[in-house]
Amino acid sequence: MLIQFLTLFPSMFDSPFAHSIIKRAQDNGLVKLETINFRAYAEDRHATVDDTPYGGGPGMILKPEPIFKAVEAIEAQVATKPYIILTSPQGETFHQGIAVELSAQPHLVFVCGHYEGYDERIRTLADRELSIGDYVLTGGELPAMVMAEAIIRLLPGVLGDPDAAQLDSFSGPEGILDYPQYTKPAEFRGLKVPAILLSGDHGKIAQWRRQQALLRTARRRPDLLAQLELTAEELEMIENNRLAYEDGQPDFVLKGGNSDESD
Ligand code: SAM
Repeated sequence: MLIQFLTLFPSMFDSPFAHSIIKRAQDNGLVKLETINFRAYAEDRHATVDDTPYGGGPGMILKPEPIFKAVEAIEAQVATKPYIILTSPQGETFHQGIAVELSAQPHLVFVCGHYEGYDERIRTLADRELSIGDYVLTGGELPAMVMAEAIIRLLPGVLGDPDAAQLDSFSGPEGILDYPQYTKPAEFRGLKVPAILLSGDHGKIAQWRRQQALLRTARRRPDLLAQLELTAEELEMIENNRLAYEDGQPDFVLKGGNSDESD
């Protein structure tokens, strides 16, 4: 996959992609990342990329010419049109499902806005306008990096274990939250790992994890459960634990005879 970022601040992209899994993905040729400073496509000798808004008002607006020309230059170099994403707080809110969908694209271009935003005509270039949430940042660089990161880790071969991403929160067929995880030591400052995880009984461990994922989702993100068809047993298990959520008990304390074996 090729991902290009149209930005006025290319050096912002250096560090976030220079480590760990994402660096390895680039080293292994699974993804190629490029920044393009669209100031290079400005038309005047001062390399102006922004101007005051027609009609008055605060701030500066990104001019159409440099971004149009930068996109046209990219398109002139490739046989297949890239998928162009405009970063914008007014866009559709990015989520894991969109990351999965975009991970199938061979070539993405993120346009990173700045200042008060885009001349409206720039919107006509985009295949999609995406936001990372209902808040406003100074520029589209961080949103583009966030989205690219989420997409890259889904590319085949990027994660060591291909099943790992399926178990993440919002992923897999159900899209619920991940279950609680522990590693050594078995006891830390009086906090014990639930005994079931030390039992070696893989059937029971899988059942406990399923219950925990459901409970955690019911407690933190009930909206995600609303779309699922749960069994009567699962609904009862969630209902039995409802009071515990309201008391603020940890998710792993299960009521109703469901493997509360943390002692
Ligand atoms: N005046 C614009 C508005 O209210 O919609 C906000 C412009 S913002 C200060 C400048 C740029 O930052 C945007 O053009 C966009 O590229 C980026 N940006 C800011 N918040 C964002 C968000 N939540 N998601 C994606 N991009 C964002």
